[in-house]
Amino acid sequence: MKQDQPYDVIISGAGPVGLFLACELALSKCRVLILEKAESPRSPFKQLPFGVRGLSAPSIEALYRRGLLEELEIHKRLKNPHVNSVQQGPRRQVGHFAGIPFLEGNIDTSQWKHRLESSTETNLISEMEEIETILTRRSVALGVEIKRGLPLDSFYQTNDGVTVQSGDQTFQSPWLVGCDGARSVVRKLGGFEFAGTEPEFTGYSTKVDIADPEKLSPGRNLTERGMYLQSQPGFIVIQDFDGGAFHSSEKQITLEHVQEVLRRISNTDVTISALHFATTWTDRARQATSYSNGRILLAGDAAHIHSPLGGQGLNLGLGDAMNLGWKLAATIHKKAPEGLLDSYYKERHPIGAQVLDWSRAQVMIMKPNPQARALNSIIRDLMETRDAATYMAARVWGIFTHYDLGDVHPLVGYSVPNFEFEDGRRIGEFMQDGQGILLDFDTKTSLKTLANEYGDQVKYVSGRAKEQLGLSAVLIRPDGIIAWASDNEPDEQSIRQAASLWFTQFIS
Ligand SMILES: Cc1cc2nc3c(=O)[nH]c(=O)nc-3n(C[C@H](O)[C@H](O)[C@H](O)COP(=O)(O)OP(=O)(O)OC[C@H]3O[C@@H](n4cnc5c(N)ncnc54)[C@H](O)[C@@H]3O)c2cc1C
Repeated sequence: MKQDQPYDVIISGAGPVGLFLACELALSKCRVLILEKAESPRSPFKQLPFGVRGLSAPSIEALYRRGLLEELEIHKRLKNPHVNSVQQGPRRQVGHFAGIPFLEGNIDTSQWKHRLESSTETNLISEMEEIETILTRRSVALGVEIKRGLPLDSFYQTNDGVTVQSGDQTFQSPWLVGCDGARSVVRKLGGFEFAGTEPEFTGYSTKVDIADPEKLSPGRNLTERGMYLQSQPGFIVIQDFDGGAFHSSEKQITLEHVQEVLRRISNTDVTISALHFATTWTDRARQATSYSNGRILLAGDAAHIHSPLGGQGLNLGLGDAMNLGWKLAATIHKKAPEGLLDSYYKERHPIGAQVLDWSRAQVMIMKPNPQARALNSIIRDLMETRDAATYMAARVWGIFTHYDLGDVHPLVGYSVPNFEFEDGRRIGEFMQDGQGILLDFDTKTSLKTLANEYGDQVKYVSGRAKEQLGLSAVLIRPDGIIAWASDNEPDEQSIRQAASLWFTQFIS
């Protein structure tokens, strides 16, 4: 790294992923510049109802661990659109797979052994604009520079760093991360392969006035020709199984076109009297076959795209940022053990691939053909069972998200349970500074000495917890993932062995 360079990292894109990554890097004392194409952070598609975003357990935990969860306000007054207000109690709908609801009363949370009473929520409804506002505020407070109205146009890399061109301005930095969304310029110019499957449908998000609203049904409607959803009067989402043709034609979306599609899909002669705004999207599912090329990295939609069915893209991207931030920071500060940055791709690519398959599976059973309808009806029956509902909820809410870090202990690779100490504090509250933690339930001085060997990378936390799941000590990575755990007398050599994958030992 050249010492005279003003930034350690340039991020392309101030969407939620770019902003959260910037927060993570700045928390670890990296100097970050974000270049953002859009002049304004505001857009009707980031606001309710189209801007509604379902956050899953790993995202909620990430925000909680950085002290940001309490800043989310909208969910406190917002009705979860997947929750059917008519049905209360056990028949309450709390999520869906391809529009098929799963019910609260069918979910057996006792199967989720490592989730404690003190855990954060498993799902929460938020708004894109609110998330971006909170992350912008935090990143600026941490010293991140955001330049809006400056798109990344081109770049080149050398062994030392990356030079980025935006209009007539040039910026330099040792690292460039593309968080510039589905049509990422960084991905396209950076030599990344983007492999996957082509779309089955064009999706429409529209705000319209309807002359005869009684002709449409409220909620989600799977019809013989596709799907339309009316979350609020006039806010209509449509799935037209045209193979994605309209979206890729890049034709203007006119009132006449939306009316024609809506009439066909809803099998009505509904009349649209005004079109206020509209956008299209597809279920194209593609993923970069590598998340890095030299000094260029990808995260969020820049690295993977899929349909918004089941609402997982933002969660996937926030998970990328939480995983990448501390690893890139350690690399920049020359504290990274060999292979640390490579582990970003190794851990996050399989999680992305699972989400792409999850969205593909939903599309297949929503298709307007007899085979898909038959399968849909079987899944609908299965969803009434306890095991199926529990499985679906765990998948949708990311309960079992984990990295394959070897079979050392069943909890290794999972997000650390939110252990609550006897004084009422919880382990998540100790994670706001982004350090790793050696958690010692038995308060052994020798473990404190061991944690000190890693300087400011690992801090020592001790105390009895109300529920310890039989554990004696746990090593936690900065992203909250368990790197090592033991039910017995901690073996210091095995802690050092596990720590050597994630941290650099300064004193031995
Ligand atoms: C209808 C719909 C509903 C959804 N619902 C959910 C949900 O409930 N839950 C969920 O998890 N996900 C959901 N998603 C997906 C989620 O919105 C995306 O996955 C998420 O926004 C990705 O964040 P990102 O920061 O990677 O990309 P983006 O949000 O696309 O941000 C990219 C940023 O980069 C900027 N940019 C682009 N090009 C350049 C350039 N050349 N230079 C500089 N800046 C550039 C853009 O202006 C933008 O600000 C939904 C998506 C849609 C379309």
